[in-house]
Amino acid sequence: MATPQQLQLLAPLSGVLMPLDQVPDQVFSSRVIGDGLCIDPTSQTLCAPLAGVISNVQASGHAVSITDDNGVQVLMHIGLDTVNLAGKGFTRLVEEGQRVVVGQALIEFDADYIALNARSLLTLMLVVSGEPFTWLAPETGVVESGQPLLSLNPSEVAADERIAQEGEALFSKPVTLANANGLHARPAAVFAQAAKGFSASICLHKQQASANAKSLVAIMALQTAHGDVLQVSAAGADAEAAIKTLAELLAAGCGETVTVVAEAETVVVETSSLKVLRGVCASAGSAFGQVVQIAQQTLEVSEFGESPQAEREHLSRALAAAVMALQQLRDNATGDAQADIFKAHQELLEDPGLLDQALALINAGNSAGFAWRAATESTAALFKSLGNALLAERAADLADVGQRVLKLILGVEDRAMELPDGAILIAEQLTPSQTAGLDTRKVLGFATVGGGATSHVAILARAFGLPAICGLPVQVLALANGTRVLLDADKGELQLDPDLAAIEQLQTHRQQQKKRQQYELENAGLAACTRDGHHVEITANIASLAEAEQAMALGGEGVGLLRSEFLYLDRNHAPSHDEQASTYSAIARTLGPARNLVVRTLDVGGDKPLAYVPMERETNPFLGMRGIRLCLERPQLLRDQFKAILSSAGLARLHIMLPMVAQLSELRLARQLLAEEALALGLTELPKLGIMIEVPAAALMADLFAPEVDFFSIGTNDLTQYTLAMDRDHPRLASQADSFHPSVLRLIASTVKGAHAHGKWVGVCGAMASEKLAVPLLLGLGVDELSVSVPLIPAIKAVVREVDLLDCQAIAQQVLGLESAEQVREALRQHHETTVDTSLVLEN
Ligand code: PEP
Ligand code: MG
Repeated sequence: MATPQQLQLLAPLSGVLMPLDQVPDQVFSSRVIGDGLCIDPTSQTLCAPLAGVISNVQASGHAVSITDDNGVQVLMHIGLDTVNLAGKGFTRLVEEGQRVVVGQALIEFDADYIALNARSLLTLMLVVSGEPFTWLAPETGVVESGQPLLSLNPSEVAADERIAQEGEALFSKPVTLANANGLHARPAAVFAQAAKGFSASICLHKQQASANAKSLVAIMALQTAHGDVLQVSAAGADAEAAIKTLAELLAAGCGETVTVVAEAETVVVETSSLKVLRGVCASAGSAFGQVVQIAQQTLEVSEFGESPQAEREHLSRALAAAVMALQQLRDNATGDAQADIFKAHQELLEDPGLLDQALALINAGNSAGFAWRAATESTAALFKSLGNALLAERAADLADVGQRVLKLILGVEDRAMELPDGAILIAEQLTPSQTAGLDTRKVLGFATVGGGATSHVAILARAFGLPAICGLPVQVLALANGTRVLLDADKGELQLDPDLAAIEQLQTHRQQQKKRQQYELENAGLAACTRDGHHVEITANIASLAEAEQAMALGGEGVGLLRSEFLYLDRNHAPSHDEQASTYSAIARTLGPARNLVVRTLDVGGDKPLAYVPMERETNPFLGMRGIRLCLERPQLLRDQFKAILSSAGLARLHIMLPMVAQLSELRLARQLLAEEALALGLTELPKLGIMIEVPAAALMADLFAPEVDFFSIGTNDLTQYTLAMDRDHPRLASQADSFHPSVLRLIASTVKGAHAHGKWVGVCGAMASEKLAVPLLLGLGVDELSVSVPLIPAIKAVVREVDLLDCQAIAQQVLGLESAEQVREALRQHHETTVDTSLVLEN
């Protein structure tokens, strides 16, 4: 038996041992990656040589690393140059972040395929964290999978070789990675080896993720790919030299032959000389204040506990206390958005899978804290690895709620955050728990590296009415507390040490904005008629009864989009008929019989999965089974929803709208189901039936759809995403995925033309309708209804009252011929300045 300090590494495969020096690949034979052994395999399942956490498993499945609790890192690499097989011949059995036991199967591979298609099948097992070892078996000859081969003495030094990000970090210019397969084992090893030559603490950054540049495993875990934009940062005596050498090495391919890719557009230099950092707007507005860095507390947990019984009790007490604390946060929440987040956190705590994982570890002798952390971390890693932005954000929630429970297990009290006045909070990621107890009198805004416009920090910032920017470069984390910054969320900019003129300009601007908002609110009850007497219906986008009530109070003329998903998401079973029916009826009653209520049928799918509708994993969820496609595949779901919606007929002017329609057959089939349900209920009259125009196919064939619908509503969010082939939530494409792009405008124009030729009305319910700058344009294109975000109803109505339809038509025609979204926005700004009464400033 090994002593606690010693660690045995078992053979990960059966086969024939071969000295490392004889491996026909210099990177391995020179031991630059680490010392270890090589096996010519006779078995086809790679098993864990030690217990630990999967710190990296390459997407292509040819390499995997395990890190144990003392920091020992072991890399296994199947075959030589197998990265080029791009995953063919390998089946991954584990996920990153997962805890594995010794001997557990990690990767299955097809030896025949690899032998035929790669340079060699020789498999390496290397101790990349550098601990010395002694052999427990002859260094050559036949070995059996699971046979003890090496004995290690984990050194304190290796475990401690964590990066300490102290002092001012320097950053390189961004380097676009030219390596065909990203930084896989070989170039990563060359890079880590070079980094080890410097005393500075060095990090490699990819978007919001960072890795210790001296750790091969950490670099591989970044999962870089060709074309990724990377940066090197360093802090310490030789930081400057390190950055220069390592950035050059990256650009030159780290030992691989590469064709250099064009330099990334953003030029970033040392933090000290930076004036502006750019991200994306998560919540509009601006503020001038001082930097307050917020870091997540690191908690120490011991691996082993008392008896399993005692540890189970610790866990269940902590879970019960967390549920209660979350209930209190829900009760004290600032509005629905915040309450919903904490409700979702409570539901995560009830997840049986998570609990089972933690209990299994407790039963194996682990402490409650250790077991809970392992369970939440591995589930969060699984969420992140699925390549889905929404699930990745749920991973952030899980980390947040995980930390909450862990603190309760460990008895760590949350210290109230002492904030100076005028704080601009800066963080890698701000969690809902961190933001919940904030003194909003002292906080002026948020700026984070992680998150996007749909992240919870964005939702909370909007609920608090605070400006926020997400997706900032990591340099923002190196800003000293107290640094004066101007956060201009509208432009997605954080200006460092702004001059007095910029601050004054911002303050004047804010005063004007306030005055304007007051004016809009006072006149919210007036009809939205242009100066030349054209009425445009201004309705609301809602997702709850409370929003319906608020919309009516703010002058909404109806509901143009009820996103019915709110009834279905974040729960373990479908809503009952009664629950659905009573919700729709309550909303309809709030509107009354004279107002339109447009209920959109369920728009979920690959990107917004439902726990109770099992779906296969999709490579491209936005192009998969979502919206009407999913509902028609599960017609009972749609029938049940129709039946529930129909129960509110007569309480408001009921309209039903189908999302994501691309084919006429979808519309016809849905209409048939609706007619059957109406007949079954004895209804003689069908409600109005319309479709969303959010797939270019539907916009292009609007003339064929129009005779068969009662109305169209254009979903500019998805229409833009699908027209420009840009993910609507992509932090780096946010500024380009702009609905003002002339291609999108042309689709809107052809939709209106098709609809009006058949006497049908057209609304716009995407976020574009809530932009003041878009109002003259959409009116000019002939749009009949704008369905907008509830708080913006008064502002949009005010703009309509300030324009002439004829002017709008002229500017709309003009911008259809422009080249880019920027040109369109600029033309609209100029048009506004020449046509509208400038005593009331139009902000956007
Ligand atoms: C849209 O796509 O513009 C839209 C309104 O639908 P959602 O944002 O709910 O996808
Ligand atoms: Mg949509």
